[in-house]
Amino acid sequence: MRKTPGLVVQKYGGTSIGSSARVIAVADRIKRSLQTVDRLVVVVSAMGSTTDDLVALAHKVSREPRGREMDLLLASGEQIAVSTLGLALQDRGVPAVSLTAAQCGIRTDGVFNLARIQSIDTRRIQGELDGGRVVIITGFQGITDSHEITTLGRGGSDVTGAAVAAALGAEACDICTDVDGVLSADPRLVPDARRWAEMSYEEAIELASSGAKVLHPRAAEICMSYGVPIHVRSSFTDEAGTWIRAGESIMEQAEVVGVTSDKKVAKVTLLNVADRPGIAAEVFEELADRNISIRLIIQSASSESRARITFILDEEFVDGALEALDRWKAEQLASDVLVDRDVAKISIVGSGLGSTPGLAARMFKALAREGINIDCISSSEMKVACVIASRHLERAVKVVHEEFFKAQPQPVAGVASTGA
Ligand code: ADP
Ligand code: ASP
Ligand code: MG
Repeated sequence: MRKTPGLVVQKYGGTSIGSSARVIAVADRIKRSLQTVDRLVVVVSAMGSTTDDLVALAHKVSREPRGREMDLLLASGEQIAVSTLGLALQDRGVPAVSLTAAQCGIRTDGVFNLARIQSIDTRRIQGELDGGRVVIITGFQGITDSHEITTLGRGGSDVTGAAVAAALGAEACDICTDVDGVLSADPRLVPDARRWAEMSYEEAIELASSGAKVLHPRAAEICMSYGVPIHVRSSFTDEAGTWIRAGESIMEQAEVVGVTSDKKVAKVTLLNVADRPGIAAEVFEELADRNISIRLIIQSASSESRARITFILDEEFVDGALEALDRWKAEQLASDVLVDRDVAKISIVGSGLGSTPGLAARMFKALAREGINIDCISSSEMKVACVIASRHLERAVKVVHEEFFKAQPQPVAGVASTGA
């Protein structure tokens, strides 16, 4: 895609604008950016924990809040954020205009709560940029052809940032957040996790989809498709963070890029399922029809003509799956259906995992030394994931990270430590 020189998209997350003081600090940061960037589009998430608060509010008034009303409610957080930032910028003498997704033509499909961006009509944005204004856009939301307001799923402002950057042919999409870049683990669990100076899109996608919350995997996918470099960096400083772009694999420097974890998952087990063609298709087709995505699937034989199917899904999808699970049991597709919410997933990610023998064994050994039992294992070219009891998760992340990162006496080339 043709790049527009001097155009940058900066996305600020809720953690970066959690208070009026932080909104002012971000406005000052944007003003400083204008010394080096000609045209600036800013995508903003809701302030602090606003979205969590709105979800909690919905649950207070409804047993199963969802659909268009839920999206209309959730989308309100971002509107507060953009307008507040717009006021702060104007107060600093920076010409700025704040726009909702509807006002700047971010079209999505009609899947409430988990909508996908289909197109962005950039005319309004371009017009405002031509007029010399900073354009501030609500993240996380879109509008359907029938004028319904939708949301893109939790963490979806990253997706808006990436899609806007792709549509405008931006030079870069800055993901401005509360950490210094993409690290070898969540610094909340591993305070001395390392920051990578650069990595490939593939590495970022794998890290993000296995739980590194710092970037939404779809944002990295969009930027990869359109060749937009991503710069994950702190909104609290002007320091460089992690550049994600083609050909920047850190495979040559380290076997494992990161240890990720996901506590918000649940395990479903279908016992004594008939072992015949079509059963798995039936089960997973029904879940797909309900827009439920599955993170890991294991099928094993339990006896001669019976099988056991286990799958891991995001906790937020469990309620939506319950109806199907109850019916499968009633129709005797399975003799029993077990739901375990006290599980968590820990993964190691690296471009060379598939081709470097022994890395998975080192992960399993580190867990075994701590007496942590592994419930399920799955592996792919770039990832080994283990499901364990959620109460062990924090300890598990620490020991697995130590296994792969403490053994090296010196930081490897191209890698800076956190805060560097
Ligand atoms: P924002 O509000 O900016 O969107 P998020 O809370 O969504 O921020 O993501 C940033 C958080 O991601 C960090 O505070 C950090 O705790 C967490 N995180 C998890 N894994 C990683 C990782 N590998 N590298 C950096 N941060 C990570
Ligand atoms: N405000 C939304 C959320 O909390 C979107 C985002 O943060 O990216 O999920
Ligand atoms: Mg986020």
